[in-house]
Formats: sequence, C-alpha cells, structure tokens
Amino acid sequence: MHQSITALMDDVVAKNPAEPEFHQAVLEVLDSLGVVLERHPEYASARILERMVEPERVLMFRVPWSDDDGRPQINRGFRIEMNSAIGPYKGGLRFHPSVNLGILKFLAFEQVFKNSLTTLPLGGGKGGSDFDPKGRSDNEVMRFCQSFMTELQRHIGPNSDVPAGDIGVGGREIGFLFGQYKRIANEFTGVLTGKGLGWGGSLIRTEATGYGAVYFGKEMLATRGETFEGKTCLVSGSGNVAQYAVEKLLEFGGKVVTMSDSGGSIHDPSGIDAEKLAWMMDLKNVRRGRISEYAEHFPGVTYYPSDAAVDHNPLWAHEAQCAFPSATQNEVNAKDAANLVKNGVYVVSEGANMPTVAAGVELFNAAGILYGPGKAANAGGVAVSGLEMAQNSMRYSWSREEVDEKLQRVMADIHTSCLDAAERFGAPGNYVTGANIAGFLKVADAMLDQGLV
Ligand code: NDP
Repeated sequence: MHQSITALMDDVVAKNPAEPEFHQAVLEVLDSLGVVLERHPEYASARILERMVEPERVLMFRVPWSDDDGRPQINRGFRIEMNSAIGPYKGGLRFHPSVNLGILKFLAFEQVFKNSLTTLPLGGGKGGSDFDPKGRSDNEVMRFCQSFMTELQRHIGPNSDVPAGDIGVGGREIGFLFGQYKRIANEFTGVLTGKGLGWGGSLIRTEATGYGAVYFGKEMLATRGETFEGKTCLVSGSGNVAQYAVEKLLEFGGKVVTMSDSGGSIHDPSGIDAEKLAWMMDLKNVRRGRISEYAEHFPGVTYYPSDAAVDHNPLWAHEAQCAFPSATQNEVNAKDAANLVKNGVYVVSEGANMPTVAAGVELFNAAGILYGPGKAANAGGVAVSGLEMAQNSMRYSWSREEVDEKLQRVMADIHTSCLDAAERFGAPGNYVTGANIAGFLKVADAMLDQGLV
C-alpha cells in the first residue's frame, strides 16, 4: 500500500475508535487508490483523501417519543453529511437497533463513491436511528418519525440534503417523515425520495435497487456472452431490495431458491415463482410476518434458523451460479465466500451495502468470478432517487418505461466505467478497484476545483 495511505489509515483508526465498519469501508477504498496517487500527485498535495475521510458535518440528537402505553421512549438520531462536492448530500435513513455512529459513517462514506458513479449530481450522506420499527404499532412508528423529523428538518432541504429509505425505512416511514417535514417547513418540496406515487414519488423507485443489482449482474454476465436464463440464484434478505431482485431475476428466466430475514433463511428447491413471491411480499409488507412462515406454508421448503454458533450461513452453501446478498453488511463471511465459490457461484452482485467481509472479497477476486461490489451494483436505488429529485424540480413525472430505461442505462454506464477505470489503472476485470477509482476521480476533481473547503 502507498506509504501516505498506510499513515492515513492508521490515523483513521486512531481518530475513529470502535468504528470497525467505517475502518473496513475506508480501507477497501484506500487500498485501490495507491496507483491513482502515484499518477496524480495533485490529489496528495491537496490532501483530498484526508478530507474525504472526515465528514463535512455529523449531527446526533435525542429522539423522545411516547409508546402506546404512554411511556416515554428515548432513541438516538443521526445524520452524517459526508461530502457535498458534486451535489446535495444524498443517502438513506436506517432504523435498526444496530445503528450507531460507525455504521452510519461507513454507509455515508460508501455513498459518496456510489453517488459519483451514477453520473448524477449527488453528494453523499446517511442517517438513521437505533429505533426498531419491528413489533411497533403504526401509531408508535408515526410518533417516532414525527419526533425524529422535528429535529432533522432543521438540517435538510431539497437543495442541501435529501434523505431516502434504507433498512427499516420503507413507504410507511417516508410518508410519516414527509408529513411532518411539510407541516413544520410549510412547503411541499422534494426533500425526501421514495415518496408515494400520488405525492411526488417516482415510478420504479421502490423496485430500483433490486432491479439495478440484477441489471448489473446482467451486464457482468454479458461480458462472457451469458444471460440469467436457467441459472440458479441465491438471494438473501426479504425486504425491499431482495423482493425486487427476485422479481427481476424471474423475469430474466432465473430460478431463485433462497430468501432470508434476521431469524433465518429458507431454501425452496422448486424455486420461488411469481405466485410465491407475491405471497412473500404480502407476508413482509402487509402482514409484517417472518420468513419461517414461508416454510410452513409451502411444501418441500427447508427453514434454517439463524445460529450465531455456526461459522457459516447455510443460505450461501447451496449449489447455484449466481448470488445476490441483499440483507445487511458483513453477512457473507470468509467461509460463506469459500462455500459460494466451491458450490459453483461465479456471479455475485451485491444488493446490500458491504455485505461481504474483506477476506471474502479477496477470495472472490482471486477466484476470478464476476464480483460486483455494492457501491456499484446497488447504485440503482440512489440513481432513481436522483431521477425523483429531477422530476420533483420539473413538477413532472416520467412513465414507468422511461424511468426503467434510464435505470438500465445508468447501470450499464456504471458497469462500463468500472471496467474502464480498472483497465486504465492496471487491474483489468476488477470491479472493486474500478468502482473505487471511478467514483473517487469525479469527487476528487470537484474538490480540487472548489478549493480548500
Ligand atoms: P429492508 O428493511 O426492506 O430489508 C432488510 C432485510 O434484511 C430484511 O429481510 C431484514 O430482516 C434483513 N436484515 C436486516 N438486518 C439484518 C441482520 N443484522 N441480519 C440478518 N438479516 C438482516 O431493507 P432494504 O431491503 O432496503 O436494505 C437491504 C440492504 O440493501 C441494506 O444493506 C441497505 O443498506 C441496502 N441498500 C438499500 C437501498 C434501498 O433503496 N432500499 C439502496 C442501496 C442499498 P428482518 O426483517 O428480520 O430485520
């Protein structure tokens, strides 16, 4: 690794203690950039990297709310405004009990490069809370969202910071958040994306991340003259990203045999067809049930409960050709990565953010499989969020076909820029290096142009 990069990494670890996910995300990017610094000393002299690892602003606040029994509840809210060199801060809100400063900083850091790759004018940010919507009534979720937005609204705006959804923040939460913003700010603007279709949302935004990860996989397969037709696919998660990845894979002739939630995973050897997927979507989005119920409802399905004592996830140990990790960070450990390669998987397109540990990424690259890292493969969500912002500004809506066509074009362009950058900087075929370098260059050049700010 370049000497100045090693020193910077040491500094990041010392200055941001107890934030392992942030260290992991920064290390992965820095690891790709040594060759860029050698060819472009101007980035090192302007200390671009040192600036990039430091968020422009970190907001942390108390979120008090009342549960259905009238008892006060206190959560912690965050917004990380990471980098605004190429546009307003943009990135989702995550509501999950595991949320902390380090996890949101890792997500905000990844978002900077991802948003740059989309070619849209979007800076990077991320936010959320350790609030757990699971098991809470709609009224409790509404009161929490209203309290969260009462503070957040001071810091966001359609031209400064535009949040969206992420884990635990879907259409219901975006609705409550938008309602409270509008009430306090007294203006109807595109301050959030992922809105309902009747009040400023874009067609295809709900589907975009899952569809986009499949479009990216399609581009990777096309480099070998192949398609998804007849291929067996492993998908993890059963939330927004996973559901639409499965839908698109079915449309492309793939056979999906797994899905999961935090309780465990299911293996359906006969394949999750359109009818079963509709049942699953109703289970997850309307009845808010658990994936174990799928195994109880459909014959021939095996349920594997999560077990922290087991050193691998059985979901990644089935025979298949393609894998779409679409649940959460570090869900594919080194053993899982080895199992995937051993069982025939040669296309991995990440719907989730940083779902594969560093040792797993190394293993994929060493095995020469088609590996699309999250910051490239899941950029379809934020890309359509960018298109939602454009439509809001025009006060106009594009048709489903128009948005889907733009999404496909963005994913194909990201794929090409990853391959081009990897080739130009001496790592042909390596999508990780390509994504990091292509994402970095645009932001770094904008930072150079804008001076020391
Ligand atoms: P959802 O909340 O809709 O779904 C998340 C899914 O992952 C659920 O099935 C959930 O299970 C499971 N999950 C969450 N945390 C864990 C955990 N610690 N262990 C095991 N399973 C877990 O979120 P999304 O589908 O929106 O997000 C999934 C991933 O995609 C995240 O990494 C997110 O950052 C990323 N992403 C999302 C985008 C979007 O547009 N929504 C855009 C780009 C990336 P359970 O219900 O039991 O919690």
